[in-house]
Amino acid sequence: MVDLKGQYEGIKDQISSSFEEVITSTAFINGPEVQNFQKELEEYLGVKHVIPCGNGTDALQIAMMGLGLKPGDEVITADFTFAATVEVIALLGLTPVLVDVEPDTFNIDPEKVKAAITPKTKAIVPVHLFGQTANMDEIMDIATANNLFVIEDNAQAIGGNYHDKTGVSHKTGTIGHIGATSFFPSKNLGCYGDGGAIFTNDDELAHTIRGVVNHGMYERYHHDVVGVNSRLDSLQAAVLRAKLPKLDSYNNARRKAADLYDVAFKAQEHIITPLRVGNDDTHVFHQYTLKITNGKRDALVKHFQENNIPCGVYYPIPLHKQKAYADERYNEADFEVTNQLVKEVISLPMHTELDKEQIEFITKTLIAFVNA
Ligand SMILES: *Cc1c(COP(=O)(O)O)cnc(C)c1O
Repeated sequence: MVDLKGQYEGIKDQISSSFEEVITSTAFINGPEVQNFQKELEEYLGVKHVIPCGNGTDALQIAMMGLGLKPGDEVITADFTFAATVEVIALLGLTPVLVDVEPDTFNIDPEKVKAAITPKTKAIVPVHLFGQTANMDEIMDIATANNLFVIEDNAQAIGGNYHDKTGVSHKTGTIGHIGATSFFPSKNLGCYGDGGAIFTNDDELAHTIRGVVNHGMYERYHHDVVGVNSRLDSLQAAVLRAKLPKLDSYNNARRKAADLYDVAFKAQEHIITPLRVGNDDTHVFHQYTLKITNGKRDALVKHFQENNIPCGVYYPIPLHKQKAYADERYNEADFEVTNQLVKEVISLPMHTELDKEQIEFITKTLIAFVNA
């Protein structure tokens, strides 16, 4: 699904020398690499504050802690996403409210968000799933009208651009009150272990969060709030500093691979290719996810396995049906889209090193099988 080795070849020398520097300096935690990465990412994103942390799940949790959300507060998020999004809501004693997604973008449906708002609702967590930005214009309007916080789960969409209705372009993760991202190795900007970050333009919130990530300390050994220990280490920051200048070209390589897939699957009756909303640079293709509409998805996965073609089903079970998150409040009729998507989606190999021949082999095998 990913080719991290091929990508490594292009940054090998830089990584070796910066690793050696970190190790000889012994500044393993919060060293210059971390501080420089933070500044470089702030510049790249055009955001006032980047707060590095241990991983993307922590980033989401810390965002909610930083906003002062309290047990009983309701947080609306998508039924069709990776479990981390809902996990941290539940972990903090907040009440997750899962809502259905749009069938073409796979992202949270603003109409469903509106319908789920109650007097207890405090926040919305849109996930820019598979690299496609959620409908942030509508989500921000709903949030403003109802006095809600917006936390963008940007784990799959770093480097994406969102052109708002006034024509202004924003980097994803910088539109809501807080953005959270992951640097897990397979993400579009991945390190060689775990890493994550929180973004915000709000000075006060940034200050609060800098304490939360560091045991609730704003002054050494004074613990003003309950915090956590969540850090990006210097070796990971060194990897990210080598990759950040290449992020746009990495995302372009993904788009190019997506273009080749799109062309190959054009006019295929039973295959629906992923929608790109707006300008071409909104989608960063963390995944290239098709819908197979003739009931052959599961058989196709098996066929791919037999032919040594990697693929993934993200995600096979709606969150509202997971044992940990099932709740009698939920009504099956409200999750029509997710219930259908889990039967149809398949994600194909997608990374920066995919070449034409690989794509040709994958698409030919897929088309022949689906139409057989
Ligand atoms: C990967 C991911 C996360 C969690 O990131 P980790 O760094 O693995 O903790 C959260 N949300 C989404 C949508 C993700 O894809």
